[in-house]
Amino acid sequence: KAKSSGKNQFVFCSQEMKEEIEQTMVITSNLYHALDRSELAIVYQPQVSIETGQIIAVEALARWYHPELGLISPAIFIPIAEHTSLINLIGEWILKESCQQIKKWHNKGLLPIRVAVNVSVNQLLNTNFVNKVMKILADTGLDSKYLELEITENIAIQESDYIFDVLSKLKALGISLAIDDFGTEYSSLNRIKLLPVDRLKIDMHFISGILNNEKDKVIVDVIIKLAKDLNLKVIAEGVETQEQLNYLLEKKCDEVQGYFFYKPLSTSDMEEVLTNLI
Ligand code: C2E
Ligand code: MG
Ligand code: MG
Ligand code: MG
Repeated sequence: KAKSSGKNQFVFCSQEMKEEIEQTMVITSNLYHALDRSELAIVYQPQVSIETGQIIAVEALARWYHPELGLISPAIFIPIAEHTSLINLIGEWILKESCQQIKKWHNKGLLPIRVAVNVSVNQLLNTNFVNKVMKILADTGLDSKYLELEITENIAIQESDYIFDVLSKLKALGISLAIDDFGTEYSSLNRIKLLPVDRLKIDMHFISGILNNEKDKVIVDVIIKLAKDLNLKVIAEGVETQEQLNYLLEKKCDEVQGYFFYKPLSTSDMEEVLTNLI
């Protein structure tokens, strides 16, 4: 940024900017050790079928517990990891760990749920990604039909043949694909139609506005209708109230995820929930 402002110009760096840069540097250097120091963990948030009320899947969400810095949100450390090659290592660990955990639950005779894992664009662009996923499925013994990968809308809509090819290969393995944070970018409907995806996840911004913002309501209606017309499943994220749920029920949204049902749960809490279902 400083360079682009040209010669003979003072670049002001405010105290906040300095602090932010420092924070990023501290986090980056610590992130390098997070994996080998076992500071990363995964929490699981159930996805519920609106019609049956059954848990059909869990989303794996990364958590970083640093001994001094405390709990660091993935909204902070994932973008930092994405600026380095660390996202590949971290992403691979999360994928492997969550597939392993789901398989363990299946083996215990618990409800055979799917796991949805978030994937960054850098991971998809890594030449070995499809092979890595195949190896993880083989090593953990998890059937590919129990794995869903969540890609954000901005990845999905990139007019890239390479990404299209990777998604097609993943789909051919029997994995399902979801478009996360749907509605936040400007999708070409033609692109969405061509993508080998199974599910649209309505971004929680729209869900939070569903009852008092006419425009959010319209957007949610349109996304649900789009999904139905394209034969895709549709899930709403960030459902926090009964009123929001009622609206989604009425509009025949397929699935819901949010604090109204469950917060993201630790492995042991998630196991308890699944155990209590049998
Ligand atoms: P996301 O994939 O869209 O995940 C949904 C986020 O919404 C999660 O935040 C979840 O805890 C939160 N959430 C769920 N229900 C509710 C609700 O009812 N109300 C509110 N206010 N929030 C709710 P989280 O865990 O902090 O993750 C933030 C983002 O970080 C994720 O957004 C995802 O983009 C990214 N992320 C998390 N784990 C990973 C990962 O393993 N890999 C990658 N690449 N990204 C990840
Ligand atoms: Mg997600
Ligand atoms: Mg999302
Ligand atoms: Mg998000």
